[in-house]
Amino acid sequence: MSNLTRDFFIALSNNKLLNKGAQKWGFRLGAEQFVAGLDVDSVLQSVKKLNEKGISATVDHLGEFVTDRSVSLRAKQNILHLIERIHEEKVDCHVSVKLTQLGLDIDEQFCLDNMFEIVELANKYDIFINIDTEDYLHYEQTLRVLDALREKYDNVGTVIQSYLFRAEEDMDRLKDARLRIVKGAYKESESVAYQSKEEIDANFLKLAKKRLKGDAFTSIATHDHNIINELKRFVEEENIDKNNFEFQMLYGFRTDMQEALAKEGYLFCTYVPFGEDWYGYFMRRLAERPQNINLIIKDKLYDSDNRIKKTPVIVGSAVVASLAYFLCRRKK
Ligand SMILES: Cc1cc2nc3c(=O)[nH]c(=O)nc-3n(C[C@H](O)[C@H](O)[C@H](O)COP(=O)(O)OP(=O)(O)OC[C@H]3O[C@@H](n4cnc5c(N)ncnc54)[C@H](O)[C@@H]3O)c2cc1C
Repeated sequence: MSNLTRDFFIALSNNKLLNKGAQKWGFRLGAEQFVAGLDVDSVLQSVKKLNEKGISATVDHLGEFVTDRSVSLRAKQNILHLIERIHEEKVDCHVSVKLTQLGLDIDEQFCLDNMFEIVELANKYDIFINIDTEDYLHYEQTLRVLDALREKYDNVGTVIQSYLFRAEEDMDRLKDARLRIVKGAYKESESVAYQSKEEIDANFLKLAKKRLKGDAFTSIATHDHNIINELKRFVEEENIDKNNFEFQMLYGFRTDMQEALAKEGYLFCTYVPFGEDWYGYFMRRLAERPQNINLIIKDKLYDSDNRIKKTPVIVGSAVVASLAYFLCRRKK
């Protein structure tokens, strides 16, 4: 993908005005393909359907970069409610959270207090809490919050981004924690992160193999069939216990492959986002894979005609840009 297209959508994902507009005007850009509804009831319905196929889930109540205390407190209440419902409904599911939703940009201690409440309740019900990693600006703080929580609880872990130069060092330090390995979804500077796909992929494989040889549980989170196939071979060769790791993918992506991996006997977990604050998440998915735009346009504009699949990415970009511009103007 061209860096220009990626940068364009990452810039859109950070646009606060558009974030607000999207919340207000609802699912307008095709987000329902990747977001499992707006409330707990709908997300749990989706989780139950996955569970029926032998797939577990990690549920994310969408929201990030919050600067208002009351918004963070509301998000915490929603997550506590989600945990209660997961327990009541006995679904096979854990929870992913973003610290900037829970007040990291307001005050680190405030965020930590919110997290203590969340991890405490989840611990009572034996539910795991994953702290998603966000942009590098919040990375040190995220690790500090994790360390403080891990002094008291072991039902909490985080995500290692293979684009970061320091990923291996952090992964080794957290060797006893449950970790998810990803490539990394934000635009980071070349002073801290690999920029080329080759380097990021190579580091992903190196980290995943090292982790798989250890004892702690690992989530391999990627849609990349080359990486998945290489790791399947590695696991066979090294005789690694299949109960010690899982593959993860995002809701709405490569659904056939998700189900196939579960059928092959691998633990599989789908990341299922829900909630009104879907805009930033959705734009990052478009940044990762412009073909997603074509899927959406096709879904939105055509029933069964295949022609749109051949439409150049630039057309998709233009449509989304126009929609974004339109939302922006309506706000004014
Ligand atoms: C479960 C999960 C949790 C995540 N959590 C975080 C997090 O906490 N922090 C963070 O920074 N990032 C997170 N990410 C995002 C991650 O960092 C990447 O940005 C994202 O997964 C894209 O990289 P990839 O490895 O999936 O494949 P890419 O590098 O995007 O794709 C590699 C190749 O795989 C194939 N491919 C990929 N997607 C598709 C598709 N939909 N259909 C067909 N072929 C496809 C294509 O051939 C493509 O060239 C998460 C991702 C997942 C899956």
